[in-house]
Parts: sequence; C-alpha cells; structure tokens
Amino acid sequence: MLEAYSRCWAEIDIKAIAHNVQEIQKLVGETKIMGIVKANAYGHGDVQCAKALKECGVDFFGVSSIDEALNLRNAGIDDNVLILGYTPEEHFHYLHEQNIIQSLVSLDYAKTLNEYAMTQNVQIRAHCKVDTGMCRTGIIYRDQSKNMDSILEEYQLSNIHVEGIFSHFPVSDELDKDSKEFTLHQIELFKEVLQQLEQHGINPGIRHIQNSYGILNYGDLGFDYCRPGLLYMGVTSDDSVEIESNPDFIPILSLYANVSLVKWIEPGQSVSYGRHFIAQKPTKVATMSIGYADGLPRLVSNKNLEVLVHGIRCPLIGNICMDQCMIDVTAVDDVKQGDVVCIVGQQGKEKVTIDEISRKAQTINNETLSCITSRVPRMEKRQ
Ligand SMILES: *Cc1c(COP(=O)(O)O)cnc(C)c1O
Repeated sequence: MLEAYSRCWAEIDIKAIAHNVQEIQKLVGETKIMGIVKANAYGHGDVQCAKALKECGVDFFGVSSIDEALNLRNAGIDDNVLILGYTPEEHFHYLHEQNIIQSLVSLDYAKTLNEYAMTQNVQIRAHCKVDTGMCRTGIIYRDQSKNMDSILEEYQLSNIHVEGIFSHFPVSDELDKDSKEFTLHQIELFKEVLQQLEQHGINPGIRHIQNSYGILNYGDLGFDYCRPGLLYMGVTSDDSVEIESNPDFIPILSLYANVSLVKWIEPGQSVSYGRHFIAQKPTKVATMSIGYADGLPRLVSNKNLEVLVHGIRCPLIGNICMDQCMIDVTAVDDVKQGDVVCIVGQQGKEKVTIDEISRKAQTINNETLSCITSRVPRMEKRQ
C-alpha cells in the first residue's frame, strides 16, 4: 500500500485512546477493560488499537473470530484474547496452539469442543456465555425456563477450562422505563447465575456484561471486566441518543480525501450519475477522490452532507460514485487540485462528525466506521 496521502485516507489519533480509556475508567471504577477490537476495531485498525490499549494497561481483548484472534497473535500481542463468536471445528486447533479463549455458544458446542480437546489431550480456555435477553448466543437463562444445569455442566467438562462468564445487553442504550427495567433485570439474572455457581462451590471466573452503553448508562456494576468498543474510539452509536453520564470522549478517527479537479459550471448543468443535482446558478464544483467503495455510503447522496474545505462547510452534490464524488465549493476561495477535504474530523475551527454521515445513511456509527474499506490507508495522526 502506498504510504502517500494520495487519494483518501483515515487518520487515527492514538493519543486520544489513552484519554478515552481514562474517561471509561472514571465511569466503571475498579472494573477492568476488555478492549473490543473486532472488525478491525470497527475500521480503526485492530493491531494499532490493541497496542495503544496495551499501553494504557488493557490486558484483555475481544474479537469476533479466530482469524481476528490470529491477526493479534501474529502482530505479537500475547495478552488474553476472547473470541466473542463462533469458531468452526476445523479451526479448533488454533485455540490451544495460540492460547486463545473461546466463548461457549451453547452446551452442545461446549461438549463438541470438549471431545476435541480430549482427543488432543489438551485443556482449552473458555468463557461461559449466558443469554439473559439478547437471544444471540449462549445458554438461555430467563425467569421461567432456567437452564442452570446446562451452565453447571459447562463448568464440569473435563478438558474445557471455563475461566469466565458473560452476558450481553440489547437495550442498554435506551433510557425509557421498559428498556431500563429490561437491562436491570438482565443484571439480576446474571447475578442469580453467579450466586448459584458459588452455591455449587464453583468459581465463576472473570465476570463481564457491559458494552459501551452499558458503561455510559449503568456505571460501575462491580464486575471484573467491561467490554467497550465504541467508547475507546471516542464515539457513541448515535450522538442524538441521550445518555445518563456526561463523559468527555475524543473521536479517534478522521477521514480525508484530496481534491482532484475544480471547475465552474453554468446554470442548468447537471452533476454525476442520475443527474440529481442541477445547478441553479454559476457553481464552482470540486471533485474529490473518495467514493462508496471507500465506505462513504451512496445512501447519503443528495442529502446535503457537508464536508470541510479550507475549514468551510461545503455540501456534497449529485450521486456519490464508486471512487469519487463532487462538492459545491462556490463559497471557498482558491480551491485547487491537491487540497485536502475533511469528511470526518476538524479543519480550522470547524468540525464534521461521523454522526452526520450515519444519520443521513440511517444507520449507527458502528456500521459507518466498520464499513470504511481496506483500500483506505489508516495513518497515525500527525500531531
Ligand atoms: C461488539 C460487542 C461489544 C462492544 O460493543 P460496543 O457497543 O462497541 O461497546 C461488547 N460485547 C459483545 C459481546 C460484543 O459483541
């Protein structure tokens, strides 16, 4: 990959991660942080983020799959790595070869993994997943249908070392009465499981339940770890969603592209595929070198998304193309080829946020960030 800032690129502010970790720590007290770096750390670069988090004392990482876990190992990250999702049987061998911790997606899955471990005569490290309401993976544990026996059975498997237990929140981001009751009830169910394990003389191991909104809205729950992704990246899913706390996070990602051409067009002339923008007056148009194949969603075309040129807000006009798109720079003097357009971040005194893109794309920042594609170089922010 070219290291030049030639077409479009993302800059990651590694220093801001340390600040964000401190802000998280203020909210959760003694609870330790498991840095979630799945999906290439939501597009921010998993290895870079994991290394920065390590510098802040983070000693546990969460990923979605075995290849993501191996990516960390290959980069020399030898800390605890938990696979939050499923690992197919063909890849079980990596778990013990690379000392990776597997989530137990069900009792049957745990048994299959145990049988494998027995044939290899190895112990495989695992965390028990309890489903208290997400209905995604784990042993279902609800009011009426209590599967405590299955949870106990996982802990008793001969060749699986269950050294942790966790659950996950589906509505910790919402503050209405129903959602709060639901989440608080999940916490109660989780505690009930922990109590029963202790009554059976079983050490549950490391206990963790909070994602980013679980941290923002429920503070210090007294468990061993919390699992933030978004928060150390300095963003929430949607900045229009109210939260209980008042933290001071710094977004770590900025996104830029270069101007490739500047030209004046006459009234009546149209811009881009579909001819959805027609100039009403003489308009100065700049073409910039970023498109939907870089992760700028085509869905935000013709919705007045603003980007910064010389620190001035300029609207996107016409459809976003695969590798390029056009902006109205009539208001900016002296725009020329090679100028830097800021799509996310700060330029001069102005700021544009990932939230503006996500709102117009009708999605959450999690998706917008993780869809910035691999051809966009990730550079460390020039301080
Ligand atoms: C992705 C994920 C997280 C992190 O979620 P954020 O909202 O980014 O903090 C935590 N736990 C699990 C199980 C996840 O899948």
